[in-house]
Amino acid sequence: MTGDRMTVRTALDTLLAGNRRFTAGTPEHPNQDAARRTAIAPAQSPFAVLFGCSDSRLAAEIIFDRGLGDLFVVRTAGHVLGAEVLGSIEYGVSVLGSPLVVVLGHDSCGAVAATRAAVQDGTTATGYVRDVIERVTPSVLAARAAGHTEDTDFIDTHIVHTVDLLMERSRVLADAVEAGTAAVVGLSYRLADGTARLVTVRGLDVPADSHA
Ligand SMILES: [Zn+2]
Repeated sequence: MTGDRMTVRTALDTLLAGNRRFTAGTPEHPNQDAARRTAIAPAQSPFAVLFGCSDSRLAAEIIFDRGLGDLFVVRTAGHVLGAEVLGSIEYGVSVLGSPLVVVLGHDSCGAVAATRAAVQDGTTATGYVRDVIERVTPSVLAARAAGHTEDTDFIDTHIVHTVDLLMERSRVLADAVEAGTAAVVGLSYRLADGTARLVTVRGLDVPADSHA
């Protein structure tokens, strides 16, 4: 991919095709050899910025069947956003030229579960874990206010909120989406079967399947 910028649509199709190979048990492990390693050493041109939960069960290159130089990965517990995250995502889009930004959430997310428990019981966490919980709290409150009780609905709400927050806080990203040079999508990953469902889409005309 080095040197040739993918279109927004091709980037999304490429990512989802890799996830289908992974779930089907027919991965191709592209771009993982010595030739690729050498080819991209001078410069990277990842086709997607992947901003996901740090959870050890959703390793980005594995679940999307990609290799070196394909994904610019930013991960935090519960995919919570701060200035460093915004700067990293903007770097991927405006400096490296990635046409796609993905927010990757998942079922049984510990950060969302801990926040639901904290909201329900009025408890709080110690140290900087508290910061993570505070940043997930608006999503949990919104899901509760909408009458949701299922884990899937809380996860979808948090993914949509994260995409909204990205678009709201990053002028660089909002402008790129407006100009049609980038799209932002939210994906919900299922731990048990490995599927990534499109929850929300900004800057592309493709159908999403949201439970939010
Ligand atoms: Zn998680």
